[in-house]
Order: sequence, then C-alpha cells, then structure tokens
Amino acid sequence: MSDLLTADRIEEIGALGFESPDPAALVAELVSAVDEGRVADPADTGYALLVAVDILEQAGDLADALALATRAIAEQPDDNAYARAVRGGLLLRNGRSDEGMAELTALRPLLETDPAAVYLIDELAESGRGDTAVEWLTGALDAILERTRTQQHASEDAQDEAAAMIYGLAQRRHDLREEQGLPHDEYDNLADRLRAASNHALDALDDGPATLLFWPKAEFDALLVRWPAMADSHPPTWDEHRITVERALVETSARGGTDLGLVNGTVDGLAAFAERAGSDPTDEETLDEYADSLDDAGITSWPPGRNDTCWCGSGAKYKKCCLPRSRG
Ligand SMILES: [Zn+2]
Ligand SMILES: [Zn+2]
Repeated sequence: MSDLLTADRIEEIGALGFESPDPAALVAELVSAVDEGRVADPADTGYALLVAVDILEQAGDLADALALATRAIAEQPDDNAYARAVRGGLLLRNGRSDEGMAELTALRPLLETDPAAVYLIDELAESGRGDTAVEWLTGALDAILERTRTQQHASEDAQDEAAAMIYGLAQRRHDLREEQGLPHDEYDNLADRLRAASNHALDALDDGPATLLFWPKAEFDALLVRWPAMADSHPPTWDEHRITVERALVETSARGGTDLGLVNGTVDGLAAFAERAGSDPTDEETLDEYADSLDDAGITSWPPGRNDTCWCGSGAKYKKCCLPRSRG
C-alpha cells in the first residue's frame, strides 16, 4: 500500500482499534505510512503514532506502545504535550514510576491554563494514582480561583475561560472523589452548585419564564450586612452584582433562552421565607426557591428597550446603564 494516509483514515483506524479482527495490521498501516513519509498532512504524524500507541496498549503490548509514544514526541517537537502525557502514563503502567511521574509533573502547570489538559488526570487515574489526580485537580482549582480573585480586570473572555475551567476541573474532581468513596468537601459542593446552575440554565431554555434574583441597591447592601456569608456567593459590590445579572441574562439569551426576566429580592422577604421553610437563607437552594416564590409578585421582563429605564433601578436609560456596562 503506497497511498497517502489521510486524517480521515487515521480517525477510522482509531475507531476500529482493538475491536478490529487484525489490530496488528492497523498498527502496521499507521507505522509504515510514518516510516515512508506517506502521512498526507505531516502535522498528523504524531496523531497517527498515538492511535497506534492506543491499539498496542489495548493489545497489552506496553513496551512497543511506549517506544511509539517516545517517537511521537520526537516527531512533534513543538506541540507534544499530549504525546508526553501518554508516554508518562505508559511509563507508570510499565512500572517505571519515577520516570513516569517526572514526565507528568513537568506538564502539571498546563492544568491551570489548558482546558484540554485533563488528559493528565486520565493518565494518573488509569495508572491507579487517583489520589495524586485529586491532589493535582485541587491545586489547579486553588490556582485558578486565586488568579480570578487577584485579576479583577481580566477580560471577559479570560473570565469565561476561567469559569469553564473551574467547571470542568471541579466536575472531574467530584467524580474521582466519589469513586474513592470520599465525603463532599468544599470543592465538591462547588461542583454540585455549578452543575445545578448549568442544568437550571438549560432548563430555562425550554420552560419559561426564566427569572433571575436581583437585589436592588439598598437591599444588596443590607443583604451582605445581615448575612456576611453571602459574600461567598455574591460579588463584593452592587455594581458587580447588577453586571453579573445582566451578563447571565445576555448569556442565556445567546443560548436561545427567551421569556427572560428578573425578580427583586428583599432582605426581609428572604428572612421570612427562610424562616417559613426552616432553611438557611444563605443556601443556594433557598435563594432559588425564594426567587421562584417571587414570580407571582411580578417579574421585570428583560431586556428593556434601549431607551427605556434600566431594569436595575438606577433611573438611567438601559442603553446608558447596564447594557454597555456588562459588555465593557
Ligand atoms: Zn455531589
Ligand atoms: Zn442598569
């Protein structure tokens, strides 16, 4: 066979993999194309080798898999983090723990910057190192949260990316710890809250009206004084609170959400609601239920017209208030 090896064919081989009647022939097809310079796009050389690595490993041939992974790294000197992670995992599973951990540890900082780098966690978990995997996830969450706390002026894109990473890392960590039979800790609770919020946002796409809880200025200030623990789940200033609310609405709307609106919370109202329900007023769930209970009292629909008074109660026109502020 002297055909060019296309990316489609590599993908097809990857899908067949060890399920195929003759995995060795697939490996040979990949490796010979690399040997003979027949990879259609030379940038796919490492990819072709890593698919072969996967088939070999599934066949139990760890030594050959390791040799090919090492070769994949050399073939892609500029972009080989994934190949190095694969090699690190293979070293661990070949009993070469120190070398394997050295390879993976060198890549560990990627967990804080590259959403795809959870492949490091997969390698650790597959090698029976779930404890280390959890420890690394905890460290990455600590670092990203610290970064978002200190970089108040990060761009919106950077904030969105940090939020997406926190979501992904927290879910992975939550699931690993659950497999290990560990009780929920603070980050597990965060993972649950984020998942619930995400489900909530998705639900909002089909049943309407979707409302967000908003605290008018005086109420927001009173809220943080009355329940200092609210500072954990709310921004420090009312300005940031209204921006957060506006952004959440913009995002829901961008995902196709319609029939959106706000309900205005009051401190006394929440206190009374929590007392009736016998629940903690600072609990995320209580706040959700309180918001739902306000629907009947009146929903401020969103968005207002550009020249209408802003929903936040500032008295300014929407186009001069929350509309530009949330996008700045
Ligand atoms: Zn949970
Ligand atoms: Zn406003």
